Amino acid sequence: MKNNVLTFSDHSRHFKDCIYVYPVVSRRSQGVSLGINLNINNACNWRCVYCQVEGLVRGKPERIDLPRLKFELDMMLDWIVNGKFIQEYAPVSLRRFNDICLSGNGESTLSEDFVTVCEIIAELRQKYSIGTDVKTVLISNGSEILKENVQQGLKIIAENNGELWFKIDRANPSAINLVNQVSIDINGVIKRLELASSLCKTYVQSCWFQVDEIEPTAELVTEFVALMLQLKPYIAGVLLYSTARNPALAEGNNISQVSPEFLTNLAGQIAAHGIMVKNYV
Ligand code: SF4
Repeated sequence: MKNNVLTFSDHSRHFKDCIYVYPVVSRRSQGVSLGINLNINNACNWRCVYCQVEGLVRGKPERIDLPRLKFELDMMLDWIVNGKFIQEYAPVSLRRFNDICLSGNGESTLSEDFVTVCEIIAELRQKYSIGTDVKTVLISNGSEILKENVQQGLKIIAENNGELWFKIDRANPSAINLVNQVSIDINGVIKRLELASSLCKTYVQSCWFQVDEIEPTAELVTEFVALMLQLKPYIAGVLLYSTARNPALAEGNNISQVSPEFLTNLAGQIAAHGIMVKNYV
């Protein structure tokens, strides 16, 4: 008999012929997360060396087939809320619906249909009477927050038990350039995060990894902890993780997971400032 139980490594974006909607059992959620991928062309404006998107290209998503996305989300929510999806596909210990998560093969907020997708999520949450035990999560690199439509979408997410997970991997421009392969000004990052946090509950999400089997330097850690302290008034917490699988990009060939001790130490330094921290290795 075919074993249909999802595992942590099972992150297929094509569950049951869906194009946009994909269920995963996630380490971070400790349950079922229903993902929405707006970047089916694998296009992103960043190129993080740890990115797990096969065939990643620079760019933005194409227009979304909104009726199809709505159909897929409606079908999956019906299956999860009214059907036996969770019993059939989730391991016994993880049989709970945790979140609807905008997390694609690229930056979701680049989509011209971002607001409409947020409206569809809100409408279907209402249709299935989804309560506060299920979050709406936007995982984002935060680059587009100054755009009015993205702010509008963020407000809708906030009204739907929402959280923004705002990617900040390092605290200085040269380190960001090495990790995310993008040139950005740290004051711009701070400004966008402050604005985002005024619209929606915001966590910093940060990925740490070894390069050539060497842990990140103490200097990188110190700078990052200082930035988190500066952002403390605006954030609900910091979510730390390391590369879970082999990166898809050639640039990531020499990176690997940090040790649990490294993440624990980094988490401890941030928590010492009274900031909530979760770490996932
Ligand atoms: S922002 Fe996300 S999708 Fe884009 S390159 Fe980085 S990890 Fe990949």
